[in-house]
Amino acid sequence: MKNIIWTFSILFFISCQAHEPKESEERAVEEHLPVKSDFDNESWGEITESSGIKLDLRYSTKNNFTKKQIYNCPRCFLRPEAAKKLKQIQKDIKERYNLGLIIYDCYRPRPAQQKLWDIVPNPNYVTNPKKGSMHNRGLAVDVGLVDKEGRVIDMGTDFDYFGKEAHHDFYGLDKKVLKYRGFLKKLMDLHGFKSIRTEWWHYSLRDVSAPISDWEWSCDS
Ligand SMILES: [Zn+2]
Repeated sequence: MKNIIWTFSILFFISCQAHEPKESEERAVEEHLPVKSDFDNESWGEITESSGIKLDLRYSTKNNFTKKQIYNCPRCFLRPEAAKKLKQIQKDIKERYNLGLIIYDCYRPRPAQQKLWDIVPNPNYVTNPKKGSMHNRGLAVDVGLVDKEGRVIDMGTDFDYFGKEAHHDFYGLDKKVLKYRGFLKKLMDLHGFKSIRTEWWHYSLRDVSAPISDWEWSCDS
């Protein structure tokens, strides 16, 4: 009997220990951060406005070329390497140039790609979900610049403008616009992101691979 009581008290002690908050949890409470994340943070990194990056996630609104809301709620996820790099870029340009980033789209779950494809089944505008894009892999981001007041810097066209004016090799634009486009391209390139010729806003991480994903983020919190 004594042994049983002893075993129970040890078990009780262990279970109490297990519920002791870890240092990281205590810190999270102090800094008002969520203790538990609602996603797998080995596969994904989330960018929130607490990083200083402005979010204007167009596919969670009707303000996009489909005029329909594609995502249920506005959250920005990327593969951890890409998310980390963007936070670093934000820090650098804030300190060195008093500028900031604005993000229009991040990881795009394949079911969302399917929704886009159902609305616009044209490979000139939307990637076929069967093929998948770098957005579906969590390795591409659509990004622009803001000034120190958080005002969007004119890049010549809006995000998702399908026309030659959005191309990197279109030079019939204001000098200032060309300067900022060039600045963003150089900046992203320096941090390992490559551009595509036809969209000034689109950058994907070089030399990193990740599978196409169907995972959709939670909208509960
Ligand atoms: Zn893009």
